[in-house]
Amino acid sequence: MKILDGKALASSIQASLKNEIETFKKETHITPGLAVILVGDDPASHAYVNRKAKACKEVGIYSVLHEMPADIEEDDILSTIEMINNNPKIHGLLVQLPLPKHIDTAKLLEKISPAKDVDGFHPYNFGKLIAGLDTFAPCTPLGIMKLLETNDIDLKGLNACVIGASNIVGKPLAAMLLNAGATVDVCHILTKDLKAHTLNADIVCVGVGKPNLLTADMVKDGAIVIDIGINKVENKIVGDADYENISKKCSAITPVPGGVGPMTIAMLLSNTYEAAKKAHQ
Ligand code: NAD
Repeated sequence: MKILDGKALASSIQASLKNEIETFKKETHITPGLAVILVGDDPASHAYVNRKAKACKEVGIYSVLHEMPADIEEDDILSTIEMINNNPKIHGLLVQLPLPKHIDTAKLLEKISPAKDVDGFHPYNFGKLIAGLDTFAPCTPLGIMKLLETNDIDLKGLNACVIGASNIVGKPLAAMLLNAGATVDVCHILTKDLKAHTLNADIVCVGVGKPNLLTADMVKDGAIVIDIGINKVENKIVGDADYENISKKCSAITPVPGGVGPMTIAMLLSNTYEAAKKAHQ
């Protein structure tokens, strides 16, 4: 059984990025810049944003945080996005999700310039992703694809099952697996017989937010398991898969923590650097 070590891969990607960005800065006198909009005081969102800012600093990306109170008007966020879209020093812009209920998330994401959309959530980039065209792909699925590729896992002809169908994880991941040649089932809360889908899969990706949703009896021998879930249970971070029992029968699995999470941040840095290079060209 192989542990798909996202932490190690992410740190090697970040080390290469650091070198590349240093050279890029010397050659162009441009520092890649990322702006983050954070609305409200959700502790998990604050923790993610801090982690992103720290990672930016480590690789030489300039990052700026726009913090806003939970009761801010939607129009104020829209005008901040507009201002960042027009700022030539900023190459990437992300709005940390989730947003307070009174804000129309789709409207905000559509306001982000597609050229600065390093989270890959703008409908234009989402459409390009589905069509298999070069674009900013959402960081979590992109990190998963990188982890699979680096571990020489060829997806052509494999049966894949994605559990969770959100716009930020499940749907783009399904599109990327399909584009890589897998046959993909996408399951969600209304799926009638989840186990029938997972048992048929050579690769199961679970991103739902429910500890132990995926149990060993739902996974066939030798399958690959990608655990995207992040859940806090008794002060410990766990995924959505029963790691202990599934790891006894699968051929490869991502740990939580140390699997998909670190890859997500590495891909955000990589997308921001790509955005800076494209803006320079
Ligand atoms: P979401 O709430 O937007 O979507 C959850 C999806 O799971 C929905 O499609 C829903 O239908 C499905 N679902 C819920 N219960 C189900 C069940 N019992 N059976 C089958 N499907 C079910 O969540 P999200 O934003 O996509 O995040 C999902 C999980 O992934 C969370 O734990 C989140 O913390 C984690 N996440 C991790 C990373 C990372 O970097 N590792 C990044 C983003 C999200």
